[in-house]
Amino acid sequence: MFETTHADGRTKGRINFTVWSEVFACGECGREIVYWDAALDRKAEGLREEFECPHCKALINKRQGRTDCKQDHGRSDAGDFAHIKYAPVVSDYSIEGNSKRFE
Ligand SMILES: [Zn+2]
Repeated sequence: MFETTHADGRTKGRINFTVWSEVFACGECGREIVYWDAALDRKAEGLREEFECPHCKALINKRQGRTDCKQDHGRSDAGDFAHIKYAPVVSDYSIEGNSKRFE
């Protein structure tokens, strides 16, 4: 249904699924942090609860990041709300005639 361009820049790949990551606002500098990019621990193959802001190097806690996002967007009459923002971080795709899958 969705296509992407392979690393060669020409071949089209069919996307099987996309991984989305939460985007936080840094409590120190206010800039956006893509949780996956900042917290991915490739050795442990997981995401860290605490990670550095890539912009100002402040130590951010995942829970604190969420709270800051909520404060940025305030409250409504309907109560506490948060526009949690997501960014695509990984696409798994296949190329016609090739049994391998790519990211
Ligand atoms: Zn920061």
